[in-house]
Amino acid sequence: MTPEPPLALLAELTHRCPLRCPYCSNPTALTGSSDELDTATWSRVFAEAAALGCLQVHLSGGEPTARRDIADLVRAASSAGLYTNLITAGVLLDAPKLAALAAAGLDHVQLSVQDAEAVGGDRIGGFAGGHAKKLVAARLIREAGLPLTLNAVVHRQNLGNLPAIIELALALGAGRLEVAHVQYYGWALANRAALLPTRAQLEAATAIVEAARAAHRGRLVIDYVVPDYHAQRPKACMGGWGRRFLAVSPAGRILPCHAAETIPGMAYPTVRETSLREAWYGSPAFARFRGTGWMPAPCQGCERAEQDWGGCRCQAFALTGDAGATDPACALSPHHTLLAEAVADAAVAEAGFTYRQ
Ligand code: SF4
Ligand code: SF4
Repeated sequence: MTPEPPLALLAELTHRCPLRCPYCSNPTALTGSSDELDTATWSRVFAEAAALGCLQVHLSGGEPTARRDIADLVRAASSAGLYTNLITAGVLLDAPKLAALAAAGLDHVQLSVQDAEAVGGDRIGGFAGGHAKKLVAARLIREAGLPLTLNAVVHRQNLGNLPAIIELALALGAGRLEVAHVQYYGWALANRAALLPTRAQLEAATAIVEAARAAHRGRLVIDYVVPDYHAQRPKACMGGWGRRFLAVSPAGRILPCHAAETIPGMAYPTVRETSLREAWYGSPAFARFRGTGWMPAPCQGCERAEQDWGGCRCQAFALTGDAGATDPACALSPHHTLLAEAVADAAVAEAGFTYRQ
């Protein structure tokens, strides 16, 4: 069956970033600036994405504003007809840069915070003074007339501040807050023992989010991404492999998700040689885990097969060594006990980080 066109492109413009978050979703082997795609190539990629059917582009990284041509890239994406969302740590933003981005057609900004206050935020992000710069950036984003979403990645070392993070989102004028528990691959997997929350922490956080949603209805929308390690069924990662999204890495690899390069033995095409259309419809890598035909037992024939699409391939590989295995987040997986064991190990582990570098 011919796949539906993708809805969105994740453009990882660079791996450069002043911060060093221990849960960063970038690969542990980072791409250097000399290997990054140039402005003209990204502009072509945006046009190809729009022609393929994408409605929006997430301009991400690393830190996308570390690129000196970021306003040109926003203009190219906007001119192609894409809704443009900038995903930023905010520490490189100032008023002139935001004005240039707004004039170039930027539609929306997602600003990350590492905690509710400076001591925790700067420690987790590994960047002194970063939290204060983010507060300034939030004000400038609102003054530039841009809608603001606050992104808070939560884990064992900041979940106690969740009520204060929600208050911060309200104080900064964010219309939306994304509370996302860490997903464990790449740097986060290396730091899993320091980050995994306990069941009690998770349940308290879920109750806080539900109460805040009710209390601030009409003023703040709160998205909540729960951790797989306490789940009984997996999430539909990326809406299913090669079904809704595609990503392009800083060096130009065309990927079904931003972590897909963690799976060995996959030959992903590159925008230097292949169009997004050819990759989406013709690449064996995109076809490999698309749909349900690849699924092993117990996914084959499962009533949830076309709801969660067997979960996350990167997580399946990270935990079992087999990207074609059922995601261990599913209680029906023969590997499900690995998650409970990791939670138990984390509960007695030291809390130190291995920072991204
Ligand atoms: S997670 Fe942290 S280190 Fe990684 S790109 Fe985002 S702000 Fe930078
Ligand atoms: S067996 Fe597979 S399809 Fe069924 S719930 Fe578990 S992961 Fe989803």
